Amino acid sequence: MLSRRKLLKRLSALPLVGGMIGTGLPLQSAMGSSLEEAPKRDVMKELGIRTFVNAAGTYTAMTASLMPKEVMETIQITGTQFAMLDEVQDKVGAKIAELCHAEAATVTAGCWSAMVLGLAGVLTGTDRKKIAQLPNLQGMKNEVIVQKSHNVGYVHALTNTGVTMVPVETVEELEAAISDRTAMMWFLNYQAPEGKIQHEEFVALGKKHGIPTMIDMAADVPPVENLWKYNDMGFDLVCVSGGKAMKGPQSAGILMGRKDLIEAARLSAPPRGGTIGRGMKVNKEEILGMYVALEKYINTDHDKEWKSWEDKVFLIAETVKKVGNITTDVSVPPIANHTPYLEISWDPSYFRLTRPQLQEKLRAGNPSIEVIGGKEHAISLTVFMLRPGEEKIVAKRISEELSAAKV
Ligand SMILES: *Cc1c(COP(=O)(O)O)cnc(C)c1O
Repeated sequence: MLSRRKLLKRLSALPLVGGMIGTGLPLQSAMGSSLEEAPKRDVMKELGIRTFVNAAGTYTAMTASLMPKEVMETIQITGTQFAMLDEVQDKVGAKIAELCHAEAATVTAGCWSAMVLGLAGVLTGTDRKKIAQLPNLQGMKNEVIVQKSHNVGYVHALTNTGVTMVPVETVEELEAAISDRTAMMWFLNYQAPEGKIQHEEFVALGKKHGIPTMIDMAADVPPVENLWKYNDMGFDLVCVSGGKAMKGPQSAGILMGRKDLIEAARLSAPPRGGTIGRGMKVNKEEILGMYVALEKYINTDHDKEWKSWEDKVFLIAETVKKVGNITTDVSVPPIANHTPYLEISWDPSYFRLTRPQLQEKLRAGNPSIEVIGGKEHAISLTVFMLRPGEEKIVAKRISEELSAAKV
């Protein structure tokens, strides 16, 4: 018979189920009798769903980002434990607020839902009757002021509450548009350069007239400082996506800002039914996963990460250029998806290949690869969603297809 010590030693030598290694949790409590379990199911494969190397970026259609190990472990562990949803939000909200210099914060079902709930809170306050009444705005303010260049499709999140957008261009127009119907002023961060009114002035106008201001900075980390910059600046509400560069759960986001407004916003959010936000559910696993993702993102060595993106872009550019008659160009959008983009263009007199054809060939290859479309004879790509080593695959596959298309 084996001694207890020997038995334990043998057991610990057995391969553990992937993903649970290193959590420090007893396997039994988290996974049932994991040690006897068959290999995990690959449901993507089973259903014939195409998976791919993502050299495009954080696109919702491409399921945006992959969560890091710490986030997946949090989801796996907390998925086996019950908790009161409001208590999870209270505790996580306090931590997020502290990390991002906000009075209060709450995890929402993405940035879009942060906008709906944030505005709902502004409109209703803590009045239960008004909360139940949305999107019927009888007895409430019903207009949101926006700069014309900021008035893009995402404002549907705001008009969902029943409000009307009031587009303005200049400070004079903005002040003239303010009335007792004005509920909020909304700023779209990535469009800032296109507007006549910049952040500080916008916030000052809001304060001058006693109107809450909200900023949408959904895809605007990096830089990491943006997570507190707009709270420090005095925006009353700040909305950000959790599942873009922060790599939190794709269906999570953060609403942060004034304590009274966050409290009011939560009254339109689950678990409360009979509200405009009841369908915007985010469960404890995602809320806690969001918190861990945010914490990890803030603690990342951003200079090192940036350098690794540059190295990957350089490797792909240098490899592909060897094909000949190829031009590469690296650029970085100043706001939103602020990460190096590589454009690869080819001279059509040397290649029998169009941009859609190359995209289709990369998609059909093994592994399948997604890049961004561009001009007729060019593709663009980013490397911030690549898993380690995939830059080599991308470089090789693009080179192969371009070489094969040479005339
Ligand atoms: C992505 C995005 C949103 C929506 O964010 P989700 O987290 O997907 O809900 C809103 N506004 C802007 C500018 C975005 O880029």
